[in-house]
Amino acid sequence: MLNTNENTAAADERVGGVGGGVVSGVGVGGVGGVKECAGCGKRITERFLLKALELYWHEDCLKCGCCDCRLGEVGSTLYTKANLILCKRDYLRLFGTTGYCAACSKVIPAFEMVMRAKSNVYHLECFACQQCNHRFCVGDRFYLCDNKILCEYDYEERLVFANMAYNPTSLAHIRSQQETI
Ligand SMILES: [Zn+2]
Ligand SMILES: [Zn+2]
Ligand SMILES: [Zn+2]
Ligand SMILES: [Zn+2]
Repeated sequence: MLNTNENTAAADERVGGVGGGVVSGVGVGGVGGVKECAGCGKRITERFLLKALELYWHEDCLKCGCCDCRLGEVGSTLYTKANLILCKRDYLRLFGTTGYCAACSKVIPAFEMVMRAKSNVYHLECFACQQCNHRFCVGDRFYLCDNKILCEYDYEERLVFANMAYNPTSLAHIRSQQETI
């Protein structure tokens, strides 16, 4: 649970065009006139009311439209999108992003399942060997090589080629051995 929060908190800054506001407390005496609550539509007779999104609210009426948690903490941030008022957690869950897929470079929405390899994240459907498109099953080995995912087969193939390229003398050696057989 804690982990999810940390991940989405970082994504927060990348979310463009967040509609939101900060809750502030207002004393009735200072404002003058009786305010109507934007949540329940009733008059606010309490001494203390909340102002958020240029509207007035009962302390109990300023709630997240998703999880119903109270947002009426003075100074707390709330988010709006498509006429919904949301707490930060739900906003990020619904509209935030996990990051960018290391394979296709597209944004991964926060609610989507992802695959992780070191610090990279991938769409589930993008998590395949980038050489032969082999899809991995649970328990399959994969390798991260030059920031590309490789299956075991392609990884070993690459290793062999890399060794040959960097070591031409041993290649010649193999050849001469083969000739003598
Ligand atoms: Zn109300
Ligand atoms: Zn919520
Ligand atoms: Zn992708
Ligand atoms: Zn492969």
